[in-house]
Amino acid sequence: MTSRTALISGAGIAGPALAALLTARGVAVTVVEQAAVPRSGGQAVDLRGAARTVAQRMGLLDAIRAVSLDQRGIAWVRGDGSIAARMGVDAFGGEGIVSEIEVLRGDLAAVLADATADVEYVYGDSIVALDDDGSGVDVAFEHAPGRRFDLVVGADGLHSVVRSLAFGPEEDFTRDLGLYSCWFTAPAGIDVDGWMLMHNLPGGRVATVRPGRVPGELKAGLSFRSGRIAYDRADVAAQKAIVADHFADGGWEVQRLVAAMHDASDFGFDSTAQVHLPSWSHGRIVLLGDAAWSPTQLTGLGTTLAMVGAYVLAGELAHAADAAPNDDSSGGLGRDAEIRAALRRYEERMRPFVASAQKLPPGGVDAFVPTRALEIRMRLAVMGLMTRWPLNRIMAGQFDKAMDFDLPDYGAVGVHAGPVG
Ligand SMILES: Cc1cc2nc3c(=O)[nH]c(=O)nc-3n(C[C@H](O)[C@H](O)[C@H](O)COP(=O)(O)OP(=O)(O)OC[C@H]3O[C@@H](n4cnc5c(N)ncnc54)[C@H](O)[C@@H]3O)c2cc1C
Repeated sequence: MTSRTALISGAGIAGPALAALLTARGVAVTVVEQAAVPRSGGQAVDLRGAARTVAQRMGLLDAIRAVSLDQRGIAWVRGDGSIAARMGVDAFGGEGIVSEIEVLRGDLAAVLADATADVEYVYGDSIVALDDDGSGVDVAFEHAPGRRFDLVVGADGLHSVVRSLAFGPEEDFTRDLGLYSCWFTAPAGIDVDGWMLMHNLPGGRVATVRPGRVPGELKAGLSFRSGRIAYDRADVAAQKAIVADHFADGGWEVQRLVAAMHDASDFGFDSTAQVHLPSWSHGRIVLLGDAAWSPTQLTGLGTTLAMVGAYVLAGELAHAADAAPNDDSSGGLGRDAEIRAALRRYEERMRPFVASAQKLPPGGVDAFVPTRALEIRMRLAVMGLMTRWPLNRIMAGQFDKAMDFDLPDYGAVGVHAGPVG
């Protein structure tokens, strides 16, 4: 009997990408998302290297470019507003800190979710129990009645419920970097002139602001170093108060950003942690994207890994199903042995890419958010030299990572009208 149903937890980047790719192979896919409605906007993310090829093969590259941000690059700003250093979007072949294709997370998620009408999206719900009996997975939901699926995929991010239920508690697999970030939309009022502006403050804090997609709208972020903070993930007012507390002082446009944060209706806040697991699958349950391997925002590679991972997982499942001596197979997921083999190969292919991506850029958190004024001055000086020899040679290794993956050819995977490369 060929297996043909998949449940994906999480409608971020990895979930909708996998949903579209599996649906194109004849699998009946349901996506369950905790948020009540699709979340628009959000932080800016990068589509780099191999992920661009995946988008192109899916026929979605033009649609993604159409919603990408129009930015000139990144500029580091001193407290008096003067520019200390710049790196244009064309640096490092378009793979620099602000890459050639940057898009708001919600906009990319929408393009992926709109790629096919055949996926069943269920918003405002969550998996609460999983029972894998070897031939299928019985799933209980917070609201919807229980259902049985042939495969369950946890693409539900850093705080994955699938990982908690099937693999163990979050703290067993996360490595906290001691950095918290919030992101939100701010009204026009800071002249960014097309640049992403970044300002480091003493005490391990950084403020960023960049052009939004809608004219007159800015996208802002505030990050600070801290030991673990206990907070209620549902209490936005309390989260804003935590951030405001850390940014009570600070020059440049920081106080204007804090005021905008208080008014923002699209505020997001989270810790920064990497995820490391000895295995990404357990029977018919598999993890994908940040849930499996969060590399963190410091690498700029989380979205690339999510897209490439979805492509490889869908491709390996289809490849195994096609290769099986199937009776009634016209696509689908294959039988138990084929699913296990596919999940093994998915992991073998992705492990080296993930391991390389998880290596933080030189200096790690210390370089991103230095603590003392002298360190900040040194950082600005270094940033000014990044595109010049010999620093450009050192940094090229970091920026080339996204291309250092031999993307397998799984045959036609186009999910949307457009060129399938
Ligand atoms: C501040 C910040 C800046 C970043 N900057 C960059 C960048 O510049 N470049 C880059 O490439 N990446 C960046 N990232 C990382 C990037 O956002 C992630 O790597 C990427 O979104 C991973 O995609 P994902 O689908 O695996 O997870 P997510 O995009 O996190 O999606 C997970 C989804 O699962 C849902 N979910 C959670 N729990 C449940 C549940 N119980 N049931 C159902 N659904 C659930 C969530 O609501 C969410 O929609 C940044 C992240 C942050 C926080």
